[in-house]
Amino acid sequence: MQQIFFQNGGAHAVGTIFCIARNYVAHIEELHNSKPDSPVIFCKPLNALNTSATVVLPDYSQAVHFETELVVQLGNFSGKSGKNIAQADALAHITGIALGLDLTARDVQDKLKSQGYPWELAKGFDGAACLSPFIKPEAIDNWQNIQFSLDINGERRQSGDSALMIFPIAEQISFLSRHFTLRDGDLLFTGTPSGVGALASGDKLQADLENGLLRIEWRVQ
Ligand code: ZN
Repeated sequence: MQQIFFQNGGAHAVGTIFCIARNYVAHIEELHNSKPDSPVIFCKPLNALNTSATVVLPDYSQAVHFETELVVQLGNFSGKSGKNIAQADALAHITGIALGLDLTARDVQDKLKSQGYPWELAKGFDGAACLSPFIKPEAIDNWQNIQFSLDINGERRQSGDSALMIFPIAEQISFLSRHFTLRDGDLLFTGTPSGVGALASGDKLQADLENGLLRIEWRVQ
């Protein structure tokens, strides 16, 4: 069973790992993609989950990119359906928030994209979904304005703000629930801001949520 952990104790089984792509304009521009009319969704298989402090790169890629993202745990579905959730009700179905890395073998993805194929080989490899411990959602004052960042070897590489999302988190959850019945323990990677780049062996990553509310360090093997 794949589990996530909460900072104040407790472990929870993980369901489906949903991810949204192309959710920040500046990131769309840096990869020369087009802006979507509706959320672009993909999933990571459970083998991708990595809750350790060590990032392991697959040997078949020469360009594994970091993508720092807000990740929410979904829940509170007992007795209620996880289908067709209204945007107004969506935030009540967030049961945890964490920082994650949506690791992406960019060279592999570019090739798959050019052929019109799915992305799983580029985004679903072992350890491709790195996760910090989760904290309770009550710690967040304003879901429309959540700041987060990533430093690598002491240098700021990504700065994120949920205010800059094309599709806000409540809209993502509502959209997902129209297509998939959501279940307790499902995770949602909410997209990366600009600044993505390749990782190298020995890199030391430090991610921050809301100025110290949550901090996580990863070391690339
Ligand atoms: Zn991503």
